Amino acid sequence: MSYLNDAIRLYVDQLIDWESYYRWYRGGETDLDAERAALMEILETAAGVCAEIAEQARPNWHEAARLEDGEVVYPDHIRDGYAKLKEVGLVSFGVEAKYGGFELPAVIENIIIQMIARADAGLMTLIGLQAGVSEDIQIYASDALKDEYLPRFASGEVMGAMDLTEPQAGSDLGAITTRATERDGRVFLSGNKIFITNGGCEVHLVLARDDENFDDSKGTTRGLSLYLCPRHLADGTKNGVVVERLEHKLGIHGSPTASIRFDDAEAFLVGAKGNGFKAMLTLMNNARLGVASQGIGIAEAALATAVKYASEREQFGVPIGEQPLMKNMLSRMVIAVEGSRALLYRACRLVDRNRAIERALMRSAETNEFSEAERVEMEEHRQANDTRIRLLTPLAKYMATETADEITRMAIQVHGGVGFMAESEVGKLHMDAIITTIYEGTSEIQVSFALKEIGKGALAAVFEALEAELAAFEEEALREYADKVRQGMKLILDASSALLSDFSYALMSARSLSEVVISVVVGAELLMQAKADPKRFDLAASWINRRMNDLEGRTARIKAGTLARVDRADKIIDLVR
Ligand SMILES: Cc1cc2nc3c(=O)[nH]c(=O)nc-3n(C[C@H](O)[C@H](O)[C@H](O)COP(=O)(O)OP(=O)(O)OC[C@H]3O[C@@H](n4cnc5c(N)ncnc54)[C@H](O)[C@@H]3O)c2cc1C
Repeated sequence: MSYLNDAIRLYVDQLIDWESYYRWYRGGETDLDAERAALMEILETAAGVCAEIAEQARPNWHEAARLEDGEVVYPDHIRDGYAKLKEVGLVSFGVEAKYGGFELPAVIENIIIQMIARADAGLMTLIGLQAGVSEDIQIYASDALKDEYLPRFASGEVMGAMDLTEPQAGSDLGAITTRATERDGRVFLSGNKIFITNGGCEVHLVLARDDENFDDSKGTTRGLSLYLCPRHLADGTKNGVVVERLEHKLGIHGSPTASIRFDDAEAFLVGAKGNGFKAMLTLMNNARLGVASQGIGIAEAALATAVKYASEREQFGVPIGEQPLMKNMLSRMVIAVEGSRALLYRACRLVDRNRAIERALMRSAETNEFSEAERVEMEEHRQANDTRIRLLTPLAKYMATETADEITRMAIQVHGGVGFMAESEVGKLHMDAIITTIYEGTSEIQVSFALKEIGKGALAAVFEALEAELAAFEEEALREYADKVRQGMKLILDASSALLSDFSYALMSARSLSEVVISVVVGAELLMQAKADPKRFDLAASWINRRMNDLEGRTARIKAGTLARVDRADKIIDLVR
C-alpha cells in the first residue's frame, strides 16, 4: 500500500470538480490537465519524502524532545524530517502564493498531512499546526502581521503553536483565565497554558480573556480574543513567553508538549476584539480535519504492516491471512479506513468549494465577473455548504480518530504475541493513535458538536445533497445500494425528530446519532467511488450492508428511549461507587 495510493489518485483524477474550483478560485481559463498534473507531482514528492522520513523515524520512535536552558531541542529524526519537508517547500501548504506559499486546496493539504502522519505521527503535529496557525493569520490578522509572519511560515523559518488549554480549561474553553491587558495602546498577556504542542516554537496564537470585561465574561467564551504572541519581539529581544516544562507521554514522543507561562508578554490582536473564540474555531476546524488526516495516516501505517504480516506468518500450514476469521478482520480494517477517508475527503471538498466561492464573490465585487443572480445563487450555495461543513467536520474527526484507535489495536491482534512486544511497530502506532481521539476536542465533544448542528437543522442540508446524488445512480447494482442508503436516511430523520425534543436524552445518544449519520454519508460517498472505479464496488456494498443493519438497531433504540435511560445509567454507575 503505497503512500500515494489508488484512493488518493481517484479523488485527484475524478472525484473532485476542479473545473468549478479553479473557475471560482481564480477566474479565467485554466488548463485542468496541467493543474492536476502539478498537484499529482506535489503529492508524488510528498510521498517520496515521507517514505524516507519513515525509515529514520520508526527506529527512533521513543526519542523525545527535551528542554535545555528553556529551549526545546527536537530529537534528530524530527529535526531531519522537518528539514526534508522544508527543502521541498511542504511546511505551510495553504499560505497564499504572494507570501511564498503553495496555496494548496484543503483536500491536497490533508492528503499530505496524512502521508506525514503515516511516516511519523509526532512530526505531523508540527506541520499540522504550522499549516493551521499560518492559515488563521492569513484569514484574520492585519496586513502588517501577515506581511511580517506569512513569508516566514511559508519558508519554514518559524513554526506555530495554538494555546488554548489551561489547567482548569480543557474541553470547556469558557473557563480560560489568561488575561490580556492593554497599556499605552499595546497588549500584554499573563497566565499559564498547558499541553501546548510545539510550545517552544516562535509564534503562539493565544486565546485570552480581555481585562476590561474579565469578570463579566468569566465562564463564557465571550470576552475571549485571539492574540499572536511571538517569543521574540521585532527588535530581537526575548518576549515573556516561558517554556516551563515538557510532558512525558504515552505516544507521539517526538512532538514536544509544553507548559507555557506568559509573563506580561507583548501580543498582537488577530481579528476583532472579543471575537477570539470564532477565529480560533476556524483554526480548530481546520485542525480537526488535520487530526482526522493524522488518524487515517496512522491507521494506514498499521494496516499496511498488518496485511504484510498476515501474508508472511504461517500457522497450521498456511499464511494466517488465509484464515476466514483473519480475512474478515483485515477486510473490516480496510473498510473502516476507507470509510474514514471517504468522509474526510467529502468534508475537504466542501471546504475547498467554499473557499473558491468566497474568492469568486470577493473578486466579483470589483470586476462584475458574475451577474447579480449568479452571486445570489453562489452565496446560497456557500451557506448550505457551510452548514454541511459544520456537521461533517466533527464527524470526520470523530470517525477517523476512533478508527485509528481501533485499527491499530486490531493490527496488534493480527501480530499475536509479537504485537505485544515493546519493539512492536503496530504497538507504537496504537500508542500514537490514542491521542487523536483526545486533542482538538475529544470524541465526546465532537459528537456533541455534531448533535448541536443537527439540532440547528444541518441534517436537512446534508441529506438534500445526498438525496440528489443517490437518486442519480442509474446502474442497477449501484441503485439497489443507493436505495438502502435512502431508506437509512428516512429512519434517521424519523429517529432524530423524536430525539431532539429532549436535549439531555439527545446528548446521551449523540454518539449513536453520529454513527448513523456517518453510515449514510459514507455509504453515498463510497457509491460515488464505486461508480468512478468499479473495483471499489465490494467496498461500498460491504459498508452499506454492515452499517445499514447497525443503523436499523440504533435508530430503533434512539426512537424508543426516553430520559429514563439517563436515570438508569446513574443507577448502574452507583453499583460501583
Ligand atoms: C499530547 C497533547 C497535545 C495537546 N496539544 C494541545 C495544543 O497544542 N493546544 C491546546 O490548547 N491544547 C492541547 N492539548 C489539550 C487538549 O486539547 C485537551 O487535553 C482536550 O481538549 C481535553 O481536555 P482535558 O484534557 O482537560 O479533558 P477534560 O475536558 O477534563 O475531559 C475529560 C473527559 O471528560 C469528557 N468530557 C468533558 N466535557 C464533556 C461534555 N460536555 N460531554 C461529554 N463528555 C465530556 C471528555 O470527552 C473526556 O473524556 C493537548 C493535549 C495533549 C494530551
